[in-house]
Amino acid sequence: MNQHARLDTTPIPFIDVAAQRRRLGNAIDDAVGRVLNHCQFMMGPEVVIFEQALAKFCGARHAISCASGTDAIVLVLMARGIGRGDAVFCPSFTFCATAEAVALVGATPVFVDVEKATFNIDALSLKRAVATAKRIGLKPKAVIPVDLFGLPADHDAVAEVSAAENLFVLDDAAQAFGATYKNRAVGTLAPATATSFFPAKPLGCYGDGGAVLTNDDDLADVLKSLRIHGQGMDKYDNVRIGMTGRLDTIQAAVLIEKLKIFSDEIAARQRIAQAYADGLSDVAIVPKVADGYRSVFAQYTIRLAAGHRDRLAITLKSQGIPTAIYYPKPLHRQVAYREFPVGDGGLSVSDMLADEVISLPMHAYLDAPTQTRIIEAVRRALKG
Ligand SMILES: *Cc1c(COP(=O)(O)O)cnc(C)c1O
Repeated sequence: MNQHARLDTTPIPFIDVAAQRRRLGNAIDDAVGRVLNHCQFMMGPEVVIFEQALAKFCGARHAISCASGTDAIVLVLMARGIGRGDAVFCPSFTFCATAEAVALVGATPVFVDVEKATFNIDALSLKRAVATAKRIGLKPKAVIPVDLFGLPADHDAVAEVSAAENLFVLDDAAQAFGATYKNRAVGTLAPATATSFFPAKPLGCYGDGGAVLTNDDDLADVLKSLRIHGQGMDKYDNVRIGMTGRLDTIQAAVLIEKLKIFSDEIAARQRIAQAYADGLSDVAIVPKVADGYRSVFAQYTIRLAAGHRDRLAITLKSQGIPTAIYYPKPLHRQVAYREFPVGDGGLSVSDMLADEVISLPMHAYLDAPTQTRIIEAVRRALKG
């Protein structure tokens, strides 16, 4: 670069929710306005309309909306009667809510390692963790594979171990609604799938929200009861212990509008991820999406040799480019989770990834000149 040329250091957003808001324009205002007029703030007509659209989008029979992605996981575990003495297997390299939900219902999260190429649960490590759980006297009940950063886990490999060990599979697709695996959509890859509409997720609302997707009619009925205090015939007939777990009507109204442009946004994410891969694969380890998979790239996460990423983050920050570390500490090293069991064979990949990963700005509205600026800055920083 010409040393007299001045570097553009205008701040770039990590996720540009405002750009999507501009695109949607009055559609959101009108949708929210309709709710403000009809005043059915809980379980209003938009909730059912959204659930039908969400189920249709992924091809699941049922979508049961709820108050958050965390509640979606908790509700399924409650519906399955999972609790004290039960082992639920989950990766250590994930957002805390995966294991938090397990602990909330009184069960024991047993940590499993991930594959370094995909950041997702390693079926061999899962097998070993089942043996660990049995040895320490826990009853293996369920596994929660996570489709991390928008990429589906190897669900066939998980299903094979689960069938052999009689484990219920709950897909934590909080980051991956819209992704596909072997031509099957996320939402249909496991007997139950939990997703989140937290604003920064690929399909986000303007507050907290989540949903469970399932083909199981009985499970769907129980989930609908659980999210409204375990109601039976009506709200004042309580047949089980439940919770306040509903999605607000206003959020459903927002999501109806956002779902209409979601396919287009997924396509944009593919294009942007490809441009990152083309621009960075010779200076960093970039995510590889194997044949038969489609990631929604909730994050674009690269790997650098341990010790290099902090310098990269500082350099980029000085040029107005934000980065994030997902996740700096695997769950088995967190104060709240370090007493829970770790599967036989250990979690060396989770530990390694926590030292190597760094995520770059990623959203459907990242324009080409801005992305070029990011790519060039990363290249300069890593080569210099
Ligand atoms: C965001 C997230 C959750 C929880 O979703 P909330 O809606 O924030 O409760 C669970 N698991 C994973 C992997 C997540 O990224």
